[in-house]
Amino acid sequence: MTDPNAICPPPADGRAWVEVDADALRANAASLAAKAGTGVALVPMVKADGYGLGAVEVARSLAPLKPWKLGVAAVAEGTALRRAGIAAPIFVASPALPSEIGVAVASGFELAITDLDQLRGIRELRAARSGGGAGKHGADRGPPVRVHLEIDTGMGRAGFDWRRASTWAPEVAGLLGRGRSADGAEPTLVLEGIFSHLHSADESEPSIREQRMRLESALARLAPRRPAAVHLLNSAGVLRAPDLAADAIRPGIFLYGGRPASDLELPRPVATVKARVAHVKEAGPGDTVGYGATYTARRHERWATLAIGYGDGLPRRLGDRGWAVLGGRPAPLIGRTSMDVTVVRVDAAQEVRRGDVATVIGPGGDEGLALHEVATLADTIPYEILTGLSPRLPRIWKGVPID
Ligand SMILES: *Cc1c(COP(=O)(O)O)cnc(C)c1O
Repeated sequence: MTDPNAICPPPADGRAWVEVDADALRANAASLAAKAGTGVALVPMVKADGYGLGAVEVARSLAPLKPWKLGVAAVAEGTALRRAGIAAPIFVASPALPSEIGVAVASGFELAITDLDQLRGIRELRAARSGGGAGKHGADRGPPVRVHLEIDTGMGRAGFDWRRASTWAPEVAGLLGRGRSADGAEPTLVLEGIFSHLHSADESEPSIREQRMRLESALARLAPRRPAAVHLLNSAGVLRAPDLAADAIRPGIFLYGGRPASDLELPRPVATVKARVAHVKEAGPGDTVGYGATYTARRHERWATLAIGYGDGLPRRLGDRGWAVLGGRPAPLIGRTSMDVTVVRVDAAQEVRRGDVATVIGPGGDEGLALHEVATLADTIPYEILTGLSPRLPRIWKGVPID
């Protein structure tokens, strides 16, 4: 295996980049797993390219924790992991499109079953594949499709309605159970999991309990033939109600250094965004900067133009609001953030040179605005900041195990 850190060029001459700390990622995952308790399986959500940081490196970094599955949203995300040599089971948590199901089944990915139509479609496709030829002996059937039944307990975007379990449960049980053929071959479908997704875990604990109760009430109707693992909690869910973890947890944002809510504990920072000074300017009274000339110097000032902008994923809303750290000191962002550059004001007595490195999203404290602080200043959430970091920024990983 090649050194994954070699995937990205070292930042020595880069304009801007993201430094990612695999040890912190692992520590955050281990801390959530510990809260959930022993015997609870870990399903790290690595969708959206590992929340923007690199799903392959995330998978490699978390391998020592032996995740039960890796959670993705799109079948293509699973394919990318396989191509990179990641062998862990892949769970596609969002409803797969008809156009994706063939590849998912052929790749052995586990699918979320979100309605009857989809369940029938997967069954038919799987049956067609295993029919004919040596199928009579089960030799070319291949492994069954492992599925996770999604129960909608209030999120409303996908899944079987928990209130109507008595209407869908018999048919679902029938479709799942009718898999075992007369020759005793493996079933076509295997119910691997039953899950639901929390809608307000970031806000309150009672909503989590309510959704868990709704899930239980649907489970009671289902009475599956073989035991399936029940999973419900996202990051905020684990932090607020670890006792409701059931069989597995599906954390995302906390692993990546994002705090899901302001009253919850901070994870260890994982990603730091840095940019080089591309230009230094001595500004005089009346000089303006950026589109709309929203900032005017009142006296002699020193400005540094950083080689990062909203085209890199630095939120445009940070302009005139945020601050970077340059030479160990805070440097306020002045004027509107452009697509490719952002201007900061440095202390007029401070020596700044082209090529110096500034921290624009930092670990917090004196070392630069933390991810949640950037999100607040930009009127958004850490999830959007991380997944918005553009491909123009190399991800520089440290501490990824080399296998
Ligand atoms: C994204 C996602 C998660 C992870 O949520 P976080 O808030 O990032 O912890 C869990 N489950 C499902 C189904 C998801 O789509």
